[in-house]
Amino acid sequence: MKLSRKLNLSFIIAILISIATISITSTIMINNRFENYLVGEREDKFSRISSEINELFTNIDSNLEEMDVLHYALTEDINIKIVDSKNRLIYNSNRKMGMGMHGGMMNKKHNIPTGSYIEKSYPLLESNKEIGKLIIGYIDNSYLTDSALIFKGTLSKSIFLSSFITIILGVLISMYLSKNLTAPLVDIRNTAIDIRQGNLHSRSNVSTNTLEIKDLSDSINYLGDTLIKEENSRKAYASDISHELRTPLTTLKTHLEAIIDGVWEPNEEHLNILLQEVDRLSNFSDDLRDSFKSKVYKIDLNKTVFNLSEGLKDIITAFTPIYNKDNLILEYSVEDNIEMDFDPDKFNQIISNLLTNSKKYLDINGIVKVELKRDKKNIIIKIKDNGTGIKADDLPNIFDRFYRVDSSRNKGTGGSGLGLSIVKSLVEAHGGTISMYSVYGEGTEVDLVFPNK
Ligand code: ADP
Repeated sequence: MKLSRKLNLSFIIAILISIATISITSTIMINNRFENYLVGEREDKFSRISSEINELFTNIDSNLEEMDVLHYALTEDINIKIVDSKNRLIYNSNRKMGMGMHGGMMNKKHNIPTGSYIEKSYPLLESNKEIGKLIIGYIDNSYLTDSALIFKGTLSKSIFLSSFITIILGVLISMYLSKNLTAPLVDIRNTAIDIRQGNLHSRSNVSTNTLEIKDLSDSINYLGDTLIKEENSRKAYASDISHELRTPLTTLKTHLEAIIDGVWEPNEEHLNILLQEVDRLSNFSDDLRDSFKSKVYKIDLNKTVFNLSEGLKDIITAFTPIYNKDNLILEYSVEDNIEMDFDPDKFNQIISNLLTNSKKYLDINGIVKVELKRDKKNIIIKIKDNGTGIKADDLPNIFDRFYRVDSSRNKGTGGSGLGLSIVKSLVEAHGGTISMYSVYGEGTEVDLVFPNK
């Protein structure tokens, strides 16, 4: 069932139930109160009549004029009997009840049942002594006079009319409300369907002040933006990968063709060139695997309590001959016994990557200084070189995948532009941060900061 129809139906059912409850309870209560009031009035009237007749009876020495009593009987539509102290009938107005004003036409007209005849007796007193009885006979529902019945009818009509008007207004308001509520939801649903069908630029433009609906619309739009970004990065990623693969493959292909054609001799030197390209491809495939692992899948970490100081010194020892071979200097200042929960292999990967990078961009008289220290909050590793540096424009993108500064320069260094993005993911996986500061032409500093727990 459509949401709007469901809402409409619920509103209407709620309105009908409340109106029915209000009308039924108010009709019953008002009618009861009204009838009690009328019965009370009749009782008062009868006691007044009895006391007046009592007065007449005593004053004229039991010589009651029949006309006086008949007058009461006629005007009040009742039957009056008077009996003496020995229960002998002295007077009877002899009116036939049930056919009079109330008993006949009125009852039929207002659809009320013909009432039954009832007699009620009142003592006639003289000097507090009972000298007889006044018996008043009446139809039990005679209190429902013409005007009382008209009043009741008007009341029922007005309750019915106001209920009817309320229902009409309620239905109109509920239609308006449900439309107001569902229209933005329909818009959001259509946007979601559009996005699902591949139209990633579709956006929901609902104008609503309902917080939840606004949030939902913003979330759908955010989802669309994210999908576009993902789609773009997927395309860029695919094109970068194919580009990276093409260069070594083309080199291999052209060289192999040259060997087949006999224009290039397959001697050791030439085969080494081919081997370098194969190495490049294999390194690239390793980097690619790591970069996927870090971004798409969770990195598997084998953390142990690791002595960073010793680990760092070991790596520096391994790198020193590589630096020295090219007349470059690797210095260090390492605080002893700094321990942290770390995956030793990943630590090696991070530092080796950074030291390899620094070495790549050193000129003659190049120096790299490695520092490890600890303060109350943090464990800090700094790797500082006096190499070529990085231009300010390039610095913000340096951790992006495949980002390489000045690709022609990098041709020589053979990087894939994945190294720093992998290092960043590994550092973050250990709860740390990485920052890079560089002045072009002066050198670069990489700071790794881990919480000191
Ligand atoms: P690559 O594998 O190509 O070196 P990285 O992600 O490790 O990729 O580095 C990205 C780019 O950052 C490199 O192409 C290089 O230009 C620049 N870069 C990294 N480290 C340094 C450094 N110490 N000095 C100067 N440039 C650097």
